Amino acid sequence: MSTKTLGILGSGQLGRMSAQAAKALGIRTIIFTPEEGSPASQIADETIVAAYKDERALKILAKKCDTITYEFENIPLETVRYLQTLKPVYPDDQLLGIAQDRIAEKSFLSSINIPTTKWAEIHSASDIENAFEQWNIDELIIKTTRFGYDGKGQARLSRSDDLEAALDQFTPHTLIAEHIIDFECEISVIVARDQFGTTQTYGPVLNEHKNHILHKTTFPAPIAPELAERALKMTTQLAEKLSLIGVLALELFITKDGQILANEIAPRTHNSGHWTIDACAVSQFENHVRATCGLPVLPPGQHSTGEMINLIGGDINDLSAYETNEHAHIHLYGKTEAKAGRKMGHVTLLK
Ligand code: AMP
Repeated sequence: MSTKTLGILGSGQLGRMSAQAAKALGIRTIIFTPEEGSPASQIADETIVAAYKDERALKILAKKCDTITYEFENIPLETVRYLQTLKPVYPDDQLLGIAQDRIAEKSFLSSINIPTTKWAEIHSASDIENAFEQWNIDELIIKTTRFGYDGKGQARLSRSDDLEAALDQFTPHTLIAEHIIDFECEISVIVARDQFGTTQTYGPVLNEHKNHILHKTTFPAPIAPELAERALKMTTQLAEKLSLIGVLALELFITKDGQILANEIAPRTHNSGHWTIDACAVSQFENHVRATCGLPVLPPGQHSTGEMINLIGGDINDLSAYETNEHAHIHLYGKTEAKAGRKMGHVTLLK
């Protein structure tokens, strides 16, 4: 048996926890990142510090790895396409392309009969006026089609707002408008799929946000079994239609009248799945590493329920309540500066 090497594009906490899972499996990891001293590099066997478009450095990465993955969706699509000419990259460029662009994402979801919020492409203030008219509403959300995260790149607008000014703040980005969903709750499901076509799912879990950043995940989501079943089915169907190899997360809204609407696909491990490290026999990170390294994915073997709390910015300065709690599993990401809004770690509280 030869040692496998997995390349990971990106170097944040998701890469770090994947590298930790790989290490336990005896799989080497090489992080490719423009950043020095990153959270993932502290764990990985090796780091290549270079720009994502540096083909010479990408060639070196490909030469050293058996397979390659990425830990966030804002990796340039050309980087993944270039690497695919040299070594397998999982998930592939089709999923990355879909997840990078809200129009591609919503169009794909509709094409496989997964319902989304009503949406429209926006190029001018009159497009927004038309959306207000056609949907017969007084408020909507506009979002940039690309590079939005944690509520960035989006704004709520009313009919009476200065629509030109609202558009100007997002220039030069392409935009969509979305119907505002008065949702009952937000949930997510994570699915892992291997090259043999086997899928394993985690969730659904309930997600609560503070300042647009995930604050708390409750596992399992306290929702009707029929809704949970539907959410699991949708996510598995998505993974199968994409011939996924790796892990993806589907973020969903549950409406007050019992509909489930897809909001966003993350083509990677997800913050709402961090609890799987402590509450499952096989975490989302292990199944991600397994799938991307050609191993079979395994049933999660969830043995506990509970909550995951994100440690944001200064939250890490007082962990005493968790440090004295035998049910609390603290995970810190090795980030030195506790900037406001920065994900510094998380705690899983098992029941
Ligand atoms: P997103 O960047 O699309 O994941 O949106 C970030 C957060 O904004 C979501 O988790 C929701 O809390 C909220 N949000 C986004 N889109 C909508 C919508 N169409 N209706 C209501 N809330 C939304």
